[in-house]
Amino acid sequence: MSVEQAVVQRADFDQVMVPNYAPAAFIPVRGAGSRVWDQAGRELIDFSGGIAVNVLGHAHPVLVQALTDQANKVWHVSNVFTNEPTLRLAHKLVDATFADRVFFCNSGAEANEAAFKLARRVAHDRFGAEKYEIIAATNSFHGRTLFTVSVGGQPKYSDGFGPKITGISHVPYNDLEALKAAISEKTCAVVLEPIQGEGGVLPADRAYLEGARALCDQFDALLVFDEVQSGLGRSGELFAYMHYGVVPDILSSAKSLGGGFPIGAMLTTDALASHFSVGTHGTTYGGNPLACAVAEAVVDVVNTPAVLQGVKERHQRFKTRLQQIGEQYGVFSEVRGLGLLIGCVLAEAWKGRAKDFFNAAEQHDLMILQAGPDVVRFAPSLVIDNADIDEGLDRFERAVAQLAKG
Ligand SMILES: *Cc1c(COP(=O)(O)O)cnc(C)c1O
Repeated sequence: MSVEQAVVQRADFDQVMVPNYAPAAFIPVRGAGSRVWDQAGRELIDFSGGIAVNVLGHAHPVLVQALTDQANKVWHVSNVFTNEPTLRLAHKLVDATFADRVFFCNSGAEANEAAFKLARRVAHDRFGAEKYEIIAATNSFHGRTLFTVSVGGQPKYSDGFGPKITGISHVPYNDLEALKAAISEKTCAVVLEPIQGEGGVLPADRAYLEGARALCDQFDALLVFDEVQSGLGRSGELFAYMHYGVVPDILSSAKSLGGGFPIGAMLTTDALASHFSVGTHGTTYGGNPLACAVAEAVVDVVNTPAVLQGVKERHQRFKTRLQQIGEQYGVFSEVRGLGLLIGCVLAEAWKGRAKDFFNAAEQHDLMILQAGPDVVRFAPSLVIDNADIDEGLDRFERAVAQLAKG
């Protein structure tokens, strides 16, 4: 059978797409592990992982198998019926975490939307209509729906869309005194990323999360951890809260959970979950069998001592070399992050130029990320080969050398 397909190019984006993105000049068409090929057959090394999503690289055989097996069974049934992959995945997440209950959806923003709505519903049911305030962190990112941009601490994402969701305040991250000053009997939830991702790959201090936990307990507020970026092995633990030893009441997951297939999840306890009774919340695609079958395979592969230990070893391999590049060319003031979520903070003279690093890397056949204008971010596959790490970092060094020459 031959199906005629129109030839499309990057220029078509500027004709037919809503212009809310500015994608790179090439179009990836195929991937295998941590290598990607574009339309012209050029091979790139992928340190971007689809923005901390492709946790097992591209076309991982276990995920391809899980997806095709499920594709031959049943794709979608809606939540009028449940399905086997949903229930198996929920069991695995419950067994592996603090949570007793799981709500599935399709993205990080939706997982957070569910988390914030649940927090408000719990407070409303238990304490009445006056307890609805949410405290979040400056520079945090929680998604692009109106509720999640309102909770997010970056006004550039929430300004200019009319009235925001009210009852939300922001405090500086890693500043326990500021949180202490802001929290009150009206607070229903404190929302934090254990590692701020979009905000610049900034890990929390352990004492900060411990202090936040204690304050939430004192004021009957729920502690919500947004682990959309930090979760599913990226920190070197299944979830970053395990690294810190601080347990939230509600946790949101997405990105890596699907390894490239869209899925989100909100995890919580029995007592809190009971406030989402039948009909209070929902989404058509949530718990979709294809998504859950893939995510189940992701959890099976990632949640093993070998893979999680491997993340910590790869962290060291990246960090050592990035620090050396930073010193040699004077471009970084700090290399920070946990596991395979790594941020290189640009030195004073390079401030605001993260996009130039992105572009230079692309010219050297390397896909990287920025996290704001001042941080170069790496979020590769958790199972990337050492040879790909070394070759990718060689390319990165050549890109940095070219930039440094001016
Ligand atoms: C990416 C991200 C989100 C939003 O996820 P989407 O799937 O894009 O909706 C929310 N929180 C954090 C911490 C993220 O990194």
